[in-house]
Amino acid sequence: MNKLATELKSTAPMPVLFVGHGSPMNAIEETPYSREWTKLGENLPRPTAILCISAHWETNGTFVTAMDQPKTIHDFGGFPQALFEVQYPAKGATVMAEETRNLVKNTQIKSDFNWGLDHGCWSILTHLYPKADIPVFQLSLDYTKSAASHFELSKELAFLRRKGVLIIGSGNIVHNLRTVDWRNPDNAFDWASEANAKIKKLILSGDFDQLLNYKSLGKAIELAAPSPEHYLPLIYALGLKENTEEVTFFNDKIVMGSISMTSLLIHSA
Ligand code: ZN
Repeated sequence: MNKLATELKSTAPMPVLFVGHGSPMNAIEETPYSREWTKLGENLPRPTAILCISAHWETNGTFVTAMDQPKTIHDFGGFPQALFEVQYPAKGATVMAEETRNLVKNTQIKSDFNWGLDHGCWSILTHLYPKADIPVFQLSLDYTKSAASHFELSKELAFLRRKGVLIIGSGNIVHNLRTVDWRNPDNAFDWASEANAKIKKLILSGDFDQLLNYKSLGKAIELAAPSPEHYLPLIYALGLKENTEEVTFFNDKIVMGSISMTSLLIHSA
């Protein structure tokens, strides 16, 4: 990972990330996953801004956060007080948000001044860029859209990579909270491993049609993505991949039975 990321320093456009964020506790705990995020932040080229597409911001219509100072949103319950005290005081990326609204033609993107940074975004960024000194904005997931239209929208975001923006899709390839086995972090249900392996294989073979039609890929994937919001950030990352680019997986592990931390970096070969 280190060697690879160091080599990336001289390359353009900016790499793209899909990060399996898992439990919000990764924000304040040293885990194998959060350690990898720290390492990435030390080795990736320094972005001019960060765009997060998080599983935790679903809207009717598509929005970008456009405020100067996005607030840290603690959008969860039942966690220790220390997690509610985390602040990620990065500035907003108002100019990039404006450019995104102007340059994306096929989807009407509106400005949002109410959201901020949800835990899908800041639980990762506290490790990737702990100083919070890079401006951040978020793009919402329009829950009325198909996977194919999310994929098309993501292609229109490619210009941001050439402006030095690090685009991060934050979700989980396998994410089923109904079946989650909270007491056994190392447990991996068979269907979860099967679904994760199948999606990885389709990513490596570039079979985007099947990845967009994930609902028809069988029982294991039905269980892995019972609702779309944790899967769709992956579709955004993949829509940004150029033909000549490579995919490197990291944090490739199932936790608590039915959540996969599997993440990927899209970068030039
Ligand atoms: Zn989540």
